[in-house]
Amino acid sequence: MEERATILAAISTLPPSQLSHLSLSLLSATDGHRLRLSSVLSSPSLFSSTLRHLHSLSLPEKYLLIARHLLSSLRRITTHFLLSDLTTLPPPPMSTAAIRETDLNAVLLLLCFCETHQHHPTVLEENYSDWRVSLCNIFSDKLLTAAFSPVGASPWTALAPYVDMVSRSWRLVRASCGGGKKGASPETVMGLPAVEVKEGGRECVICKEEMKVGKEVCELPCEHLFHWSCILPWLNNTDTCPCCRHRLPSDDVFGEIQRIWDMLIKSSDRQSLV
Ligand SMILES: [Zn+2]
Ligand SMILES: [Zn+2]
Repeated sequence: MEERATILAAISTLPPSQLSHLSLSLLSATDGHRLRLSSVLSSPSLFSSTLRHLHSLSLPEKYLLIARHLLSSLRRITTHFLLSDLTTLPPPPMSTAAIRETDLNAVLLLLCFCETHQHHPTVLEENYSDWRVSLCNIFSDKLLTAAFSPVGASPWTALAPYVDMVSRSWRLVRASCGGGKKGASPETVMGLPAVEVKEGGRECVICKEEMKVGKEVCELPCEHLFHWSCILPWLNNTDTCPCCRHRLPSDDVFGEIQRIWDMLIKSSDRQSLV
């Protein structure tokens, strides 16, 4: 659990007032995630639509989801470092970390599957139709536990589930960045923003179909828009825009994750010197 130790050591360098703000903020985020996962697991229809959404994603797209979730989680932690004088990080471009609701459901379910696979490997060998009930049984304690930790509990108790989630995501994301590709780097693709189509009559040049108003599509840095299902396979083979040949930046979300991570390591080293 090297990741966990790094995050906890970095957090322990915060002054007490910031530590208590941080633990409140992480506690409320953990609660939000818990509620969301619980509503996905308790509703057969939401569970199956989330599962369908996950099935529709390729493996790189699943890692992309986890990476976005990881980035916004790391930012939640390091916001509190920005207040201190530990670092001079510029304000983060939040748009690259925005996660749609269906994606958030999907990523939480995906992380829940990973945890299940680790501790109860046989459950996911069962039929799909039994998964929801089995997961409900496994996680019922966790999901129903009183949201707020008892008054006077150590801030570490509150931080632990969040830090575990971040460590797990980070290990998965790191594992995904091994394979070499000739297209755009996974880190670039992970950082592409989803935007809503505002006006009709715009066509996706890849499939030649109109992009429907209100649909969320992918925007490249050159501001050209494409269906996600069209641009992702394209970027697998090339790192330029199909309209204008604009070359994509190579260090987007992953660079940002790495930068925040390096900062946490620096803070944790500082802690070990004390
Ligand atoms: Zn298209
Ligand atoms: Zn373009």
